[in-house]
Amino acid sequence: MSDMPIEEFRKSGHQLIDWIADYLNDIEKYPPLSQVNPGDILKRIPESPPQKGEDIENVLKDVDKILMDGITHWNHPGFMAYFNSTSSGPGILAELLTAGLGINGMLWKTSPVFTELERAMMNWFRQMIGLPENYWGIIYDTASTSSMHAIASAREQLNLVFREKGMTGREEIPKLRMYCSEHAHSSIEKGAVTLGIGIEGVKKIPVNNKFELIPKKLEQKIVEDFLEGNKPFCVVATVGTTSTTSIDPIEEIAELCEKYNIWLHIDAAYAGVAAMIPEMKWITKAWEKADSIVVNPHKWMFTPMDLSIYFTRKPEILKQAFSLVPEYLKTKVDDEVENLMDYGIQLGRRFRSLKLWFIIRYFGVDGLASRIKNHIKLAKEFAEWVDNENDFELMAPVLFSTICFRYNPGNKTEEELNNLNEKLFEKINFSGKIFLSHTKLNDKFVIRLTIGSIRHERRHIEEAWQIIKKLTHK
Ligand code: PLP
Repeated sequence: MSDMPIEEFRKSGHQLIDWIADYLNDIEKYPPLSQVNPGDILKRIPESPPQKGEDIENVLKDVDKILMDGITHWNHPGFMAYFNSTSSGPGILAELLTAGLGINGMLWKTSPVFTELERAMMNWFRQMIGLPENYWGIIYDTASTSSMHAIASAREQLNLVFREKGMTGREEIPKLRMYCSEHAHSSIEKGAVTLGIGIEGVKKIPVNNKFELIPKKLEQKIVEDFLEGNKPFCVVATVGTTSTTSIDPIEEIAELCEKYNIWLHIDAAYAGVAAMIPEMKWITKAWEKADSIVVNPHKWMFTPMDLSIYFTRKPEILKQAFSLVPEYLKTKVDDEVENLMDYGIQLGRRFRSLKLWFIIRYFGVDGLASRIKNHIKLAKEFAEWVDNENDFELMAPVLFSTICFRYNPGNKTEEELNNLNEKLFEKINFSGKIFLSHTKLNDKFVIRLTIGSIRHERRHIEEAWQIIKKLTHK
């Protein structure tokens, strides 16, 4: 009754690495977007589990036979949808080693290296994006989780003893109010839902014609809430919004947060890594005034899912909100060490910092920055092609590596343009060559292309543009 024999593990492990190497090498032979219909994959999987064990050879064969059709290939250079999340070689190797080591970093004692490598990597990454030394970092799975912890910290800072007494059945508690722009990511509202703030507790502030939050409107709303007896407690500003990658005016927002004593959280999940590039350093203006910041290496730093970094100047508040230590988790060194379980909702933790250690060492900060810089350059080039084509128009400024555009051959109503672009968008994605995503800006259907894959070369961007133009004639 033991594990797979070690020689069998070794043999199939080599086989699997070969499979992954071939997959990455030949990835362009697949369509980036899976072409299956709902339920197609489920039908291929037996309804009941096998009673007796199977040969691992069979399982590996079935990866090709059963699963591959249902894969949307995020590693494919034709994948230009959402924000890319690509797996680099060193990232994949670190994932494999993580599983091999199988450690759980709930306490310092449960693997000292876990806590200490995470501390070191947070220190490296903090320097990479130019944050001051008073920022303390921790790794969570996703930006959604990071932002939820930011909102929880903002709530804890109010000292309304929510931790002990909860939020319900207490007449003395005012309505809590938080703020973000109309373009903030849905994870902010989800955080509010999770923490009992409710969707009505999130006030969406209008944006200007560059999709940036308007500080004057924010202040109006905050004052209005104070006058109504509500309690403003958190503002979420975004650097790199999901639809257009716009940047909220952090400096002015920070001033308001200071004036009204409100927690400022910056969501830089996608764009934050661009701060590594000296010419893009301006995006971090006034970040030192934020209480917390999230940046996701799993979006644009070639890190396999998942890895989100949460920085805060106030880790003690996070600990105050979440630390709860039962007898069986006490250790003799608790006073000397950091136990990461104290800083969030989860007890068990995956060894994610290993991916950063592999990736940052393999590429170096210069290597990572130059790849990201190249993506921004390619995006500007693509934007120029769109701008120079009579029948197309850019729909938002291009600040990073995402381009929002639409087909506009003239003499069409807005409704006709929406229909036309929606059809073009469907044709593009079923071309089997590229996969784009869409958004709506001021009720206009907009096609959105993101360059951020470690496999993106100029030829892929050129090809994408040719495909898009050609499909307008079909
Ligand atoms: N914040 C922004 C600005 C995003 O664009 C996204 C996802 O695209 C998120 C947060 C959520 O990221 P995650 O999937 O890591 O929760």
